[in-house]
Amino acid sequence: MIALAENDRPIAQMLMNFGACPRCILRFCRVGQQDSYRRPHKELLAELCEFLESSKDEDQARCEAATPPCKRIKLESTEEAEEQAPNGSHQLNDGAASTESGRTAVCTVCLGILQELCEVDFVKAVCHKINSSEYQFSSFVFSVSFPPQLSVREHAAWLLIQEEMEKQGLLEGKDDLVQLKEAYKWIIHPLFLEQLGVPADGKSLFEVSVVFAHPETDEDCRFLASACPGCFKPAKNKQSVFTRMAVIKALDMISEEDFRKHFPCSPSLPKSPCTAVDVQCTNGAIFVAGRYNKYSRTLPQTPWIIDGERKMESSVEELISQHLMTAFKADSFNFSSSGREDVDVRTLGTGRPFAMELLNPRKVRLAAAEMKALQQTINNSSDKVQVRDLQLVTRDAIGHMKEGEEGKTKTYSALIWTEKVIQSEDLASLDNMKELKLDQKTPLRVLHRRPLAVRVRIIHTMRSAYIDEHHFRLHLKSQAGTYIKEFVHGDFGRTQPNLGSLLGTTADILELDVESVDVDWPPALNN
Ligand code: ZN
Repeated sequence: MIALAENDRPIAQMLMNFGACPRCILRFCRVGQQDSYRRPHKELLAELCEFLESSKDEDQARCEAATPPCKRIKLESTEEAEEQAPNGSHQLNDGAASTESGRTAVCTVCLGILQELCEVDFVKAVCHKINSSEYQFSSFVFSVSFPPQLSVREHAAWLLIQEEMEKQGLLEGKDDLVQLKEAYKWIIHPLFLEQLGVPADGKSLFEVSVVFAHPETDEDCRFLASACPGCFKPAKNKQSVFTRMAVIKALDMISEEDFRKHFPCSPSLPKSPCTAVDVQCTNGAIFVAGRYNKYSRTLPQTPWIIDGERKMESSVEELISQHLMTAFKADSFNFSSSGREDVDVRTLGTGRPFAMELLNPRKVRLAAAEMKALQQTINNSSDKVQVRDLQLVTRDAIGHMKEGEEGKTKTYSALIWTEKVIQSEDLASLDNMKELKLDQKTPLRVLHRRPLAVRVRIIHTMRSAYIDEHHFRLHLKSQAGTYIKEFVHGDFGRTQPNLGSLLGTTADILELDVESVDVDWPPALNN
C-alpha cells in the first residue's frame, strides 16, 4: 500500500495532473518513512493510481474530469502493451508511466532524479566509474548537485498545492516538504552500500560527487533574471549566473503573481531525464612525515627557480615527493619542514623533520612493510637525500612540527677561516662561553623576504677543534632561528657580537652542516 492518507488525496491528484512522479508526490505529502521511497518506481506508480482511483468523492470526480492523466496514460499504455505483447497480457505497472514512446514519462518536478536516476542501474554505472578509478576507501560521502531549474519547478508545484495545504493547516512553507536531496539520499545510499560494500558516512574522506544537468529546461530560470535582477550577479568562477543559491534567493523574493505570470502552471513534459554530466571521486588529503638528511652542498630544499629559470637541477622536496606521489597515486602535494637549510648546507645526524601533504590520493593506507620499502626506494634513488622514520600521520600532528619551533635547539658544525694566525689556545675562550646572547639584525641576504628587525638569539654552547693556523671547526648549539653564517662573519656588523669580534679578527665560514634538529617528531621507528 502506498503510504498516503485520505487527506493527501487532493494534493496527490493535483501533483499527478501536474506530471509529478510518485516519489515527488510522497515528498509533497510529507511522507517521512524512508522505506516508502525505496520501493520500485513501477510499484509505487501502480499503487498511486489505485489509490487515486479508489476515491469516489466529488472532489476526485471533478479532478479527474478536468485532466485524468492517470487514466489517460494507462489507456495509452494498455493499447501499447496489447500491441506489443503477443500473449495479450497486460500489467498495469508495466506501462502505467509510459509515454507514447514506451519510456517512463519524466517527472515534471524532479526531471527524472527520483525515477531512473535513483535506481540500481544508475548506481551500478556510478560504481563502475568509482571502481575503475583505483581509490582505496572504507566509507563514502555522496554529494549531488541538481540543476537549478529544479527549484523553479519545485516552487511551481508548491504554489499549486499551497492552497490545499493551508486548508489542511499543515504547512508554513515549502521547506517543510521532504527535500529532493534528502529523499534522493534515502533511496541511493542503501544501493551504494550494496554495490560498493561500504557504508555512507557524512564524515568520510572519500567523496563521490555527481553533477546533474538538464539542458532541455535550462530556460526555466531565465525569467527570474528580469524579475529579480539583484539576485543574479556574475561571479568569476561560475559559468552561469543561475546558480542554485541565486535561484533560491530569487524564488524567495518573487511574488506569487509574478511567478505565475512567467511560469506555466502545467509545464511541458520533459522529453528526457537529467543526465549525470560529471561523476567525480576525491579522497581527503593524507600526510606522510619523516626526517631527511641532505648530503649535498648543491641541493636546495625546494625547487630553486628565479624568473622562471631553474637554478639547480633538483631539490630535497622533489627527490622525496616523486616517490610518495607514485606510491599513493596523488594529484599533487604540499611540502613542509621544521625550518630549512641553505642550498650549500648539509643536514646530517638524525635529519630534519618534514611532512608531505598528498592531495587526492588513490591509495590511503600502506602497511608498515610497504612503507619501509617505499623509504628504501627513496634512499636507493639518490645519494643526496636519505629519509628515515617515514610514516603516515594526522593533519593535527603536523602542528607538532611547527609549534614552538623557535623554542627548539639546533646543533651545527662549521668550518671557520680566520684572517689572523690562530693558536689552539685562542679558541679556549669560545668553549667557555655559555648562553651567549646575540642581536641579529635581519641578514642582508634575506632582507628581500623578511622584515627588518633586530632579533635576539642565543648560542647555548660552543666547542672548537683546532685544525691549522687559519682554520678550525666550531660545533654550536643554538636557538632555532639563529643565523649561523652571520654569527661567524658578522654581516657587516649587523650581528653583534660575532665570531670575528670575539676572536679579534676577520672570520668567515667555509662549510656549514646541521648536526641535529632537536624536534622529537615524528616518532622514531625501529627501521
Ligand atoms: Zn519526481
